[in-house]
Amino acid sequence: MWHTNLRARRGVGHVEPGHEGATATLDQMRTALITGITGQDGRFLADLLHEKGYRVVGLMKGQNNPRAELIQREHPFVELVHGDLCDLTSLVTALSAIQPDEVYNLGAISFVAMSFNQAELTANVTGLGVLRMLEAIRIVGGNQNNPIRFYQASSSEMFGKVREALQNEKTPFHPRSPYGCAKVFGHDITVNYRESYDMFACSGILFNHESERRGMEFVTRKITNAVARIKLGVQHELVLGDLEPRRDWGYAGDYVKAMWLMLQQDQPDDFVVATGETYQVKEFVRLAFEAVGIDDWQRYVRQDARFMRPSEVDLLIGDASKAERELGWKREVSFPDLVRKMVDNDMEIERRAIAVAN
Ligand code: GDP
Repeated sequence: MWHTNLRARRGVGHVEPGHEGATATLDQMRTALITGITGQDGRFLADLLHEKGYRVVGLMKGQNNPRAELIQREHPFVELVHGDLCDLTSLVTALSAIQPDEVYNLGAISFVAMSFNQAELTANVTGLGVLRMLEAIRIVGGNQNNPIRFYQASSSEMFGKVREALQNEKTPFHPRSPYGCAKVFGHDITVNYRESYDMFACSGILFNHESERRGMEFVTRKITNAVARIKLGVQHELVLGDLEPRRDWGYAGDYVKAMWLMLQQDQPDDFVVATGETYQVKEFVRLAFEAVGIDDWQRYVRQDARFMRPSEVDLLIGDASKAERELGWKREVSFPDLVRKMVDNDMEIERRAIAVAN
């Protein structure tokens, strides 16, 4: 039932993990639309889909978006189309023009701390944006046998004040931030459209995932960048908020593979993607300093209430056994390797910046 017209026309059927080639003919070439193309996950996913032979289109909002240049430089194969998750008409227009086989909705106001200050904007983009995209897919693809497969980027922040020690697809939600609340709406409306309109719509509940491309506002990248700068003598301290919280931190490059796998199944479903391990912020800090040969990290770290939050999520640990069993997904990058990769990358960037300045 899910192998619908567009897929049949293009000769695309179920693809076994690992057996997909980059040799698709134009006729068979699948098209993917990614919202949030300029973000960390959008860029990893764009690379992955390109390797698999997809035509990759990114939704970009605004005129002269400064990040368009980054995409064009680093991912020249990506086509950009104008559209905004706050503007249904623009989504319908984009989908009609592109006729995608798969839509990955990664666009969001995604920084939890900021969501407390811009709660309404977060609800509009991160929450209602999902509804608008689903509506656009329904309008363009039809009420029945809709050929467009949809992935919603849901988040472990939905679990917030956790109801059970290990969180899986059945764990009730209790979000602790406007961001988490908006993501719960996005998840629920995705399930609702799947059930109401038989759409191939999946929600991936991804726990924290980091990488060299993480924004500087997130604690992991803030730490690795500061560590590199401290090591090179251009910064003297690292100012952080709470060092006690724990996170289940994985590598973004591993996680986008799970997104793709979800849309290749025979039936749409929801999956938790996580490592099942947690580390405290201060353990991340210690490993990052150790990666550059600094053992007495406490000397360089200061805490400041500015970076504390009105409320924190409890201990988030994901149970990804369903994704492992049904999708054949497995994470490849360990926590110490993740920290090292990020520190090495920031050392490289900061060394280059120093060389240019001199
Ligand atoms: P989140 O899991 O999406 O909220 O990811 P973040 O990287 O923003 O935050 C992870 C944890 O690090 C949270 O519990 C923060 O309170 C904590 N944290 C401590 N200091 C900082 C800081 O300076 N910046 C950020 N972003 N988080 C911090």
